[in-house]
Amino acid sequence: MTLTLYNTLTRKKEPFRPIDPANVRMYVCGPTVYDYAHIGNARPVIVFDVLFRLLRHLYGPDHVTYARNITDVDDKIIVRAAEGYPQLPLNEAIRKVTTQTERQFHEDIRALGVLTPEDVNKPGEPPVFVEPRATEHIAEMRALIETLVASKHAYVAQHHVLFDVTSMPDYGRLANRSLEEMEAGARVDVAPYKKGPMDFVLWKPSKPGEPAWDSPSGIAAKGRPGWHIECSAMADKWLWDAARPHLSAAGLARPHVFDIHGGGIDLVFPHHENEIAQSRCAHGTPAMANVWMHNGFLQVEGEKMSKSLGNFVTIQELLQEWPGEAIKLAILASQYRQPMNFSDKGLQEARRTLDHWYELTADAGDGAPLCADVLEALEDDLNTPQAMAALHALRSEAAKGSKPAAACLKASARLMGLLQSTAEAWKAWRPAELEIDEKTIEARIAARSAARRAKNFKEADRIREELSAMGIQLKDSKDPATGEIVTTWEVKR
Ligand code: AMP
Ligand code: ZN
Repeated sequence: MTLTLYNTLTRKKEPFRPIDPANVRMYVCGPTVYDYAHIGNARPVIVFDVLFRLLRHLYGPDHVTYARNITDVDDKIIVRAAEGYPQLPLNEAIRKVTTQTERQFHEDIRALGVLTPEDVNKPGEPPVFVEPRATEHIAEMRALIETLVASKHAYVAQHHVLFDVTSMPDYGRLANRSLEEMEAGARVDVAPYKKGPMDFVLWKPSKPGEPAWDSPSGIAAKGRPGWHIECSAMADKWLWDAARPHLSAAGLARPHVFDIHGGGIDLVFPHHENEIAQSRCAHGTPAMANVWMHNGFLQVEGEKMSKSLGNFVTIQELLQEWPGEAIKLAILASQYRQPMNFSDKGLQEARRTLDHWYELTADAGDGAPLCADVLEALEDDLNTPQAMAALHALRSEAAKGSKPAAACLKASARLMGLLQSTAEAWKAWRPAELEIDEKTIEARIAARSAARRAKNFKEADRIREELSAMGIQLKDSKDPATGEIVTTWEVKR
């Protein structure tokens, strides 16, 4: 069996043929660090972690390079910093927001049991997992932009640099839409400095107090990069420039092109389409990456989980109630391209499954051969539900007393980044304790009701906020018999 992957660019499953099997290269768009990551944001992190593990297994751990960036300059970050720390100078507030959020992101995903650079990079050897930050690659972005302007793929207008999409004949290929179709559907109110409505920003002027760097040549005022150019610059730096000394002739014959580019399905357009346009036009290549992979949405009652809809649960909140591995397994229970509903039922099932697996493999040794069915399922476009079915079959054998089945279950689950703990540690796991006891909650609710009756709504709201900060959600409803407001509470999910 060879690895096959669904490629958004060709809309088919294709056998995976690395450009240079001695150095397989993958880039995945990472988080914009302005707020806690929600469990939807964890889906790409978990899915591409499984792919990274599989590639390391297939090609060797020293022969796969993974880059996942951190976007630490962005409009959303600036807005959040100004709101959150109005007393601080903007740049200081931004640094606070980005460093705190980045630290939280790392804590969260470590608890989910995905590989981190510290787990896989070896001292004195070229890194196999890099996490570049956008603000540390501004010079590379500026150089790319200057190349695009010099080759007439981009133009300067009113201190902005814009990409001219008409300069690229097959713009829209990833999204599978022609420029005419896009223009017809464009609802964007078109900025006066754009030549065409679909032209996108590579560089823009910074407002006073905002993060600002020297602009590409031709623009005197300082500015900051657009979002798309960040990934084009970081991917090229880490998967071409830094990788170059380690590439074979096959790799060197395809300059600037790498193997796999991933992210959530919402990134296909415009983000990935624009990354492709920038990278291909700057380097004169027929491709940016050969395979484009996109995970489907994690949904709540049929809708995408997102910050803007407010229907999200943060990873941190979930980790109070569930072990990280159960959250990971619940996500892997769906094939990565399918939309998936996230529910407590799924988490409970995942937890029960892991209870059984840990119990049955408690005494199993390490290093057993992998189960061929699990491997085959993963090689079939990461068919994790199928892999889980194979693991369940091993569980049945192990439950009947087969030691080889138990050892195989352990090794195969570990390939997916599961069963990484010990049976004792798994059994000892407990949800986080509430910071507040029930009697105190009831007393605070009574005080709030009294405040409301006295029409002191400010105090009532303050109490609700105070409880909310401690993880307690209040719900008001009308008693149908008396017409009075009844308040109940629950621990926030
Ligand atoms: P953001 O920080 O919003 O740019 O998102 C980071 C990553 O999470 C991107 O790859 C998004 O495509 C992905 N993502 C965001 N929301 C969801 C969701 N509800 N389900 C799956 N992936 C998501
Ligand atoms: Zn990106």
